[in-house]
Amino acid sequence: MPYDTVRGTDPAVADALAGERERQNDTLAMIASENHVSEAVMEAQSSELTNNYAEGYPGSRYYGGCEYADEVEQLAIDRAKELWGAEHVNVQPHSGSQANMGVFLAVLDPGDKILSLDLTHGGHLSHGHPVNVAGKTYEVEQYEVNAETGYVDYDQLAAKAEAFDPDIIISGYSAYPREVEWERVQAAADSVDAYHLADIAHITGLVAAGEHSSPVGTADFVTGSTHKTIRSGRGGIIMCDEEHADDVDSAVFPGLQGGPILHNVAGKAVGFGEALTPEFEEYASQVVDNAAALGERLQERGLELVSEGTDTHLVLVDLRPSHPDTTGKDVEAALEEVGIVLNANTVPGESRSAFNPSGIRAGTPALTTRGFDEEACRTVADLIYEIVDAPHDESVEGFVDQKVDELTAEYPLYD
Ligand SMILES: *Cc1c(COP(=O)(O)O)cnc(C)c1O
Repeated sequence: MPYDTVRGTDPAVADALAGERERQNDTLAMIASENHVSEAVMEAQSSELTNNYAEGYPGSRYYGGCEYADEVEQLAIDRAKELWGAEHVNVQPHSGSQANMGVFLAVLDPGDKILSLDLTHGGHLSHGHPVNVAGKTYEVEQYEVNAETGYVDYDQLAAKAEAFDPDIIISGYSAYPREVEWERVQAAADSVDAYHLADIAHITGLVAAGEHSSPVGTADFVTGSTHKTIRSGRGGIIMCDEEHADDVDSAVFPGLQGGPILHNVAGKAVGFGEALTPEFEEYASQVVDNAAALGERLQERGLELVSEGTDTHLVLVDLRPSHPDTTGKDVEAALEEVGIVLNANTVPGESRSAFNPSGIRAGTPALTTRGFDEEACRTVADLIYEIVDAPHDESVEGFVDQKVDELTAEYPLYD
């Protein structure tokens, strides 16, 4: 029985933890930013390193007792360098958002200017949304995707760079199904002497495996989350050239954080090790093939995809053309009832609100981890379509619910 030790002292928390394990086993996780890490990553994350203080960096700490902390952090750094080919890596950011804050703190002053993609077009809160600390600290201008094609409007980006004269331009997105053209963003940054931050939070694993082109060596800074496609447990990472290494390191600590979350750094080390294997390359390639199969089947059934397809791990469905009276939230709620978990999402040219948008976003990283192939993903596409088409029909719900049970039994996750 999992969580027996916790259960001995705290049955309430043990029940919730066991319930979550069962929920993950019994449902299809299609939130594009989610994944399932290995038991090895989880074991490393629950190690005694949660007890250490290790302010500083390997070989140069403010506390004693860091012999093994140094080993673990150095392994994470070395493996990250091998995975992404960066000159310098900082594995201490507590999350992807804090990795971005670390870059801002390293090279921007309050009031400096950020040019980033609009949140409702696929950007991220930490790229300067007014509710986020970045939006409160810096002056922000935003570019968009072309509402017709769904692709980033690189010409508009270049024109906005010219007019706004930003200090940093951010590429890399949260809900973007297409390959990012790093060089075009870099050209815009070069033309106004701005830094370029490529935030690969979602696609860390795809970039590491060569399934998506890499911004490392092009952009000045590359940030990411470590719990999405790279499957290394919750956290963030910053990569840059040696030139910016000291600024980045001192921005993360002591600029932004105190002691690193070393047990999570251990999870990163183990996950990065797993990602250096040929199995991970196969995994990443299957993630992309699965997203393509999912998208094609949704299209065959008559749903419209933003940009008419995908190059990555996710698809974005615009419900308006096929089901004008159905919102993303309706579909999200109806699918959760039958054990398919994804999220409502805004679409380019959104005519509803960010809270009740017109689209859904669906990703294949977590399904692929549990072994789904293209055929299984086409089946899932059919199930999603049935619910979109009849969100509250009980017989459809019963049928889909049963199919989800069969799929989760066929592709087991945690013992
Ligand atoms: C997920 C994401 C992040 C970081 O999220 P955290 O939850 O802070 O790790 C940053 N940028 C983008 C584009 C993202 O999608």
